[in-house]
Amino acid sequence: MPSPQLVWFRQDLRLADHRALLAAQAAGPVHAVFLNAEAQWQRHGVGANRLAFLERCVQRLAEGLAALGIPFTVLEAPRFLDAPSVLAALADRLGAEGLYFNNEYPLNERRRDDAVEAAFRRAGRAVHRFTDSVIAAPGTVMTGQGAPYTVFTPFKRRWLALLDPVAQRPLGTPRPQGAPLPPPTRALQLAKTQGAAAPAGLWPGGEGEAQRRLDAFLAQACAAYDAQRDFPAVTGTSTLSPYLAVGALSPRQALAAVLGAFPDALEGAGGAATWVSELIWREFYRHVVATFDHVSRGEAFRPAFADLPWRDDPEALTAWKAGQTGLPLVDAGMRELAATGWMHNRVRMVVAMFLTKNLLMDWHLGEAHFLDQLVDGDFAANNGGWQWSAATGTDAAPYFRVFNPVTQSQRFDPEGHYLRKWLPELASLDARAIHEPWRWAGGPRAYPRPLVDLKASRARAIAHFKAHAAG
Ligand SMILES: Cc1cc2nc3c(=O)[nH]c(=O)nc-3n(C[C@H](O)[C@H](O)[C@H](O)COP(=O)(O)OP(=O)(O)OC[C@H]3O[C@@H](n4cnc5c(N)ncnc54)[C@H](O)[C@@H]3O)c2cc1C
Repeated sequence: MPSPQLVWFRQDLRLADHRALLAAQAAGPVHAVFLNAEAQWQRHGVGANRLAFLERCVQRLAEGLAALGIPFTVLEAPRFLDAPSVLAALADRLGAEGLYFNNEYPLNERRRDDAVEAAFRRAGRAVHRFTDSVIAAPGTVMTGQGAPYTVFTPFKRRWLALLDPVAQRPLGTPRPQGAPLPPPTRALQLAKTQGAAAPAGLWPGGEGEAQRRLDAFLAQACAAYDAQRDFPAVTGTSTLSPYLAVGALSPRQALAAVLGAFPDALEGAGGAATWVSELIWREFYRHVVATFDHVSRGEAFRPAFADLPWRDDPEALTAWKAGQTGLPLVDAGMRELAATGWMHNRVRMVVAMFLTKNLLMDWHLGEAHFLDQLVDGDFAANNGGWQWSAATGTDAAPYFRVFNPVTQSQRFDPEGHYLRKWLPELASLDARAIHEPWRWAGGPRAYPRPLVDLKASRARAIAHFKAHAAG
């Protein structure tokens, strides 16, 4: 019996188009492993919705591996520090030849992976690492001077110029390795998932569900994505973010599918091209995290705003989290998040700007709350989105740009369908009154008055940022 190759699954929970798995199979029989690092994930602030989704995806993966006859072991490694010894012990027990895994980019993950690699090499075992969760490897999309990009549009231009869609075609599926094995009833059991509020049925785990959503999106919404993606009452986006975050879908699969359905998706500005742009935003933030370690340490990307003083207002924070700010679009978004573990992108920007600009509160508080609640919680995209909104990040919205939640709601939910869905106490208001309920005969009694005056709080934020940027 030849020595097995160990394949370490992490945030790449699928069988198809899995670089490490396919490379390992080419070298010999595979033994798959997943490490339960719940203590570390909790330290990173990963919430119950995300962990429950991870559990479901590991279960689907375990079933798929069993059907192919590939043995799968889930091991306890509470902290990343434990990974080298736990994996080395498994490799010893199995007499494994090499270790295969796909790269992750936040600082702690890179340090863990480097420590694992060093431990394996010391023991004389080969380690094979792959670029898989992004199409372009960090470090390959650089300016003419060899510097990393900190602005999205030139990054995107260069990313597209470097892209070879043929080379980036999905790699296919692994082959059966023997008779099917009995699937585990519960491959992974995490403690924190009891607190998950997002119904499991909203976010079924696994790559089959990811493919179903991808197909449905391409057939029904992609052509009009550019026109519809900003309207939260419309199903205009793919809802694939949780699947991309845990790797139940690879970016290569997403790109190949959109190019198959819309061959001109790399040119022009239609729905498919705009969707490809969003996939590139995802890559951009991963490159930022891979390149600038201070981002993983929780620091503002821009040094000018590193020490910006923020307001301390626990009551306002509680109202924001509960969807009780008195600003309907903000509240609808926060209630959508609490109920589903997901929020529409336009509304994410609105609630984030409201917290960091109108309430002048630290973006870290919003970042942490999102990570605690989101089913698609992803350090790079979440940090990027928060620092964009707070004007502290790469290519951020300039500090004087402050979304007005009332204007945004009038523009992107003109009939108030989204507001009515999440704010039942406003359901009887018509399309004019619902955006500013306080202006109409005092507003409904069950709904709070706005926490802040929008005009005054906007002026306060601009003055505050200006003073700090100058000083
Ligand atoms: C404050 C804030 C926090 C965010 N936190 C997260 C997060 O934790 N995880 C996450 O995946 N996205 C996050 N985003 C980005 C974006 O809101 C979601 O990716 C998107 O709403 C997911 O919906 P979808 O799958 O229908 O996206 P689609 O519109 O169908 O887009 C396709 C895919 O592109 C990627 N994508 C789209 N927009 C962005 C973006 N702005 N930045 C990075 N990737 C993007 C996602 O993987 C998404 O699934 C955040 C945005 C903001 C403003």
